[in-house]
Amino acid sequence: MGEFDLIRRYFASQPATDSVPLGIGDDCALLQIPAGQQLAVSIDSLIEGTHFLPGTDPARLAERLLGASVSDLAAMGATPLWFTLALTLPEATEAWLEPFARRLAERARELDIVLVGGDTTRGPLALSAQVHGAVAPGKALTRKGAQPGDLICVTGTLGDSAGGLQTLFDKLPTDATVEYLQQRYFCPQPRLAAGQQLAGFASACLDISDGLLGDLNHILNAAEQPIGAQITAHDVPLSEQLVAQYGEIQARKWALTGGEDFELCFTLPSQHRTLLAELTTAVTVVGEIIERPGIYLQYPDGQLISADPKGFNHFAAE
Ligand code: ADP
Ligand code: MG
Repeated sequence: MGEFDLIRRYFASQPATDSVPLGIGDDCALLQIPAGQQLAVSIDSLIEGTHFLPGTDPARLAERLLGASVSDLAAMGATPLWFTLALTLPEATEAWLEPFARRLAERARELDIVLVGGDTTRGPLALSAQVHGAVAPGKALTRKGAQPGDLICVTGTLGDSAGGLQTLFDKLPTDATVEYLQQRYFCPQPRLAAGQQLAGFASACLDISDGLLGDLNHILNAAEQPIGAQITAHDVPLSEQLVAQYGEIQARKWALTGGEDFELCFTLPSQHRTLLAELTTAVTVVGEIIERPGIYLQYPDGQLISADPKGFNHFAAE
């Protein structure tokens, strides 16, 4: 099958809409930015061997690519609009393209984002998605702005994605627990509603892709004055599946330093605390921004441990 047939077959153009006057099929798409809104733009790539294991189910690559990319829009408090897709394939086979395109379309519908174009080339398997979203001027949630006294909060549970990846390395047979963790690894759930509800209230926000400690450090570094964070280690939310599969100690390490959960970590001035009860997403307060630089983990026995800002190094020595 030629490249053009392939594009036509799996990434067909859609009828014109107000937001997409001209979609797939021409040299460019034509897009209508909502009046008075800013455009939020981000791109993410998945490279075989670097970001996923060779032989990964194409449907799972589709959901991971789109989930991870749209998560960046959630982290800014933006509303998804459009995405473009760059595909590099060793070979354009129906066996790969059909499940990939089907899951991508399904996930795009669920996340309310429209595919408007892309590029298809031959080479080692690699996928990139560039996402576009809308946010009101001055409302976007950036990494900058945390202040001493702000609450440090996270959505959902942490560490599941690292646990899911480990089940793949361990080649565990799938039961409900393993399935849950693998789903958390492959199919990130962008916290769009939480991001939009927090826009204008949270002082800083990002999505967790390097583990809580590593990403929290980005918020600390982005602040205007030197600040630090105190985390109550046992308040970091864990799923019962992660604890059941790998035990609480391992689960806590992954929650702090594990990879790509795509949950939001945000700081909230304490006068907005009541907003937490109104969020439609589960949120946990895990600590507080403090004046003293560094990240400190408070343990139930009263111990206060200084965590390496890079996160993982601290535990590597244990
Ligand atoms: P050009 O050579 O002018 O860049 P292409 O032949 O690469 O155009 O693409 C033709 C049309 O198909 C364009 O509208 C492009 O956006 C779209 N397209 C190509 N590859 C993809 C893809 N992987 N996903 C979605 N749209 C694609
Ligand atoms: Mg062209």
